[in-house]
Amino acid sequence: MRPSLHILSFALFVAACLIGCSDEDDAPAPTIKGRTEVPEGADGKPCITDDDCNSESCLMQSHGFPDGHCTTFNCDRLDCSGEASVCAALWDGTPACLLPCEADEECRDGYTCQSVSGQAESTCLPAGGGIDPAEAFEPTRDLLAFDCAPTEIGQDDIYGPTYTFTFDLGAEAQSFLMVPMVAEGVVVPLSMQTPSTSVDLQTDYRHHNARLGELDFIPDLAETGTFGQVGLDWPILVPYAPQYADYVEAGGTYELTVAADTATPCLYVVEGKTGTTIDLNIYLVGAGGRTAEDAKDDPDLAAVFARVDEIYAQAGIELGEVRFFDVPAHVRETFRVLRSQVDVYKLTAYGEPPDETLDGHLSVDLFLVDDMQFHGANVLGISAGVPGAAGLHGNPRNGLVFQTVDLGADNDHVAHILAHEVGHYVGLRHTTEVYKGTNTDAERQIDRMMGVVDPIEDTAICEEIQQTGFDCPDADNLMFPAAPPAHLSIDPRLTPGQKAVFQASPLVKR
Ligand SMILES: [Zn+2]
Repeated sequence: MRPSLHILSFALFVAACLIGCSDEDDAPAPTIKGRTEVPEGADGKPCITDDDCNSESCLMQSHGFPDGHCTTFNCDRLDCSGEASVCAALWDGTPACLLPCEADEECRDGYTCQSVSGQAESTCLPAGGGIDPAEAFEPTRDLLAFDCAPTEIGQDDIYGPTYTFTFDLGAEAQSFLMVPMVAEGVVVPLSMQTPSTSVDLQTDYRHHNARLGELDFIPDLAETGTFGQVGLDWPILVPYAPQYADYVEAGGTYELTVAADTATPCLYVVEGKTGTTIDLNIYLVGAGGRTAEDAKDDPDLAAVFARVDEIYAQAGIELGEVRFFDVPAHVRETFRVLRSQVDVYKLTAYGEPPDETLDGHLSVDLFLVDDMQFHGANVLGISAGVPGAAGLHGNPRNGLVFQTVDLGADNDHVAHILAHEVGHYVGLRHTTEVYKGTNTDAERQIDRMMGVVDPIEDTAICEEIQQTGFDCPDADNLMFPAAPPAHLSIDPRLTPGQKAVFQASPLVKR
């Protein structure tokens, strides 16, 4: 039997940008030698969208390139146009045309002259830091009412300057999700003041914690840098378990205090009401070569969604709108098979808001890949946050990926993975972590950093999961960390506590 262990997503680092960049032209613009008479739209020129570039490929401001940067992708095969004549690998490995330079002064505002290892010539690249949420994420910024002007109140011993955000909860809110963000450095939630109580987010209510930098058994994460980073921890869902429902006081005024070591943080808060419908945006990266057009009438995908509806029916939830999207050819080529958790964050950053409404924004981006092979482990799926940053698209904290090796052969299995990962995305944790009972360094680190224990009280726990496997008392739970093989005929369950959290997610609507 193929091993079927999920890896819990540690979310949210970084990614290269490039969302919305188009496929290469059939007839690329001619290469222009020299530095005179470079037309607008040539590689290296500013741009807002792909339409502004001769190559139809804009590295956009919202993804970290100040004022945008026209480029030609796959320039190992296609000529660069304009001043951006050096073909160099971007963060995700895609060859793209960049401006050659010898000093910072030769680069546009917001860029510095950087030499990338393994590359002969230096090029102008975005100067440090990442996406500034105060500047980027149109139209999301307005729809979700980003607050980028917190009150600086002091200094935290460990994490640096501290800031307080104040916000009011709507009269009908039954839950809320707080998403603090920074352009660079880290942001660490410290405390929350509800209308009636003070909550320590480092000790008493800490299931958002994901101290990635301290998890040294995931070496790849050390190499990701800070490009596009929007924070360190996962978003904070209130309540993440039914016993914390009292923290929600509809109509009340709240304060959230965070520390941010480098940049002034922004915050958005999105509210939830008990709902019944969840909308999905399906990005076809792998999925056996299916395109968005194919997917609409694909019987295997239809079978997967029907089975997901069956699984969710017990929680009173159904799939609403399911939209299909293609990704640019260079993204498909690079990410059809994912090789590391870092690939996951890079890929999920390619999500885009499906429209310009708040309702449209409150939907889940799912990236279907052919396979995920990490360090010799076969991974089924990963959510880029537990919970994810509801409403934010085109960022490493938004979206989830899962492999579709079994699509067509075992659609129920694919449906199980999809249902499980969306479960993470709305805020459900594994009933038991696969490390439990192993007493390894990994287990100790995860326990210390994250408080990984499922906070929902009516879910079973497996004390010796490695030895007990699918005989565990929680093996029939949708959020058990491994997907059962078909011959066991396990029907995935959700407990009443899990249903309450799921239904209260801001992503579950109407
Ligand atoms: Zn999982």
